[in-house]
Amino acid sequence: MEEPKEKLEKLLKSHELRVTSKRLDVLSVIHSYGSAIPYSKVQEELKDFDRVTLYRTILVLLDNGIIHKIQVEDQEVYYALCGHTCDTEEHHHEHLHFHCSECETVSCVEPDKQLKVLLKGYQISQVNVQVNGVCLECQAV
Ligand SMILES: [Zn+2]
Ligand SMILES: [Zn+2]
Ligand SMILES: [Zn+2]
Repeated sequence: MEEPKEKLEKLLKSHELRVTSKRLDVLSVIHSYGSAIPYSKVQEELKDFDRVTLYRTILVLLDNGIIHKIQVEDQEVYYALCGHTCDTEEHHHEHLHFHCSECETVSCVEPDKQLKVLLKGYQISQVNVQVNGVCLECQAV
């Protein structure tokens, strides 16, 4: 956890959340992972958290637009940090979730062309697009 805590503290404050050591611990684990982190990894990193505390802490971060959940088919749940576009009201993402079938990494990827999903008459609050394939690193091997 080499990432400066101030940045994550600011993140919590900008979402009007109280800075607690538990929230900071969860955030820094997610932040330092690089790609989206599987739930089991979060548990592994935070062994001193009991299940309920970990679940509740994650829920607060989800509800306040700081992190988002990625559900990959047949896989466990992954978590990643949100951009500046999310808040307590809504998550606004226009990126894709790329799942590599070789290394099982899940990453948030900005598409070359902006995705616009328009459904006449429907109010869209969130769009989840999951793409499967082989990531750049696995292709390089
Ligand atoms: Zn979000
Ligand atoms: Zn890969
Ligand atoms: Zn994402």
